[in-house]
Amino acid sequence: MPKSAPPRDDFKRDVIETLYRQVSGVCSNPDCMVVTTGPVLTLAPEKSSNIGVAAHITAAAKGGPRYDPAMSSAERKSASNGIWVCHNPALKAKNEVRRKGRA
Ligand SMILES: [Zn+2]
Repeated sequence: MPKSAPPRDDFKRDVIETLYRQVSGVCSNPDCMVVTTGPVLTLAPEKSSNIGVAAHITAAAKGGPRYDPAMSSAERKSASNGIWVCHNPALKAKNEVRRKGRA
């Protein structure tokens, strides 16, 4: 039987919307700052695209990046522990290369 994953302190919808609104949907990475939403460039004018995500500053679950065991569950899933960033693999790769001084 597979081992169950540790419980996660995921953001609720209102926190995700707050993080998005705080930056008007612009990626918070100063090297990126792309607008994460826009129209769908197809025949779907009723839809919008989104490449943004509400990311935890300290991990949502034990074992994740920068997990802080001293933080309460409520603190971990609050907007003060979140940041709005893009989820664009191409830009992430480009920024990683730039950070390593290869571009
Ligand atoms: Zn970005």
